[in-house]
Amino acid sequence: MKETSVTVTCSECEYESVFQKLSDARVALAAHETETGHVVDWSIEKLSAGVEKAGDDAGVCGIPGLENPKTPLIRF
Ligand SMILES: [Zn+2]
Repeated sequence: MKETSVTVTCSECEYESVFQKLSDARVALAAHETETGHVVDWSIEKLSAGVEKAGDDAGVCGIPGLENPKTPLIRF
């Protein structure tokens, strides 16, 4: 697996966290949004262009089940 670092940042409070796995980041992101109603943004470091595109697909909402089913992120 590629080495990646996923930074999750809330645009409405001080919440910020870094994860090594995208799946962990997405869980934390969804949890924060559910708990606070805030809009959370996230970014991925050290990625290929293809994975950045996948991040765009999944970044639409970050809620499992609503992301683009064709995205390679499914394999993370
Ligand atoms: Zn927040």
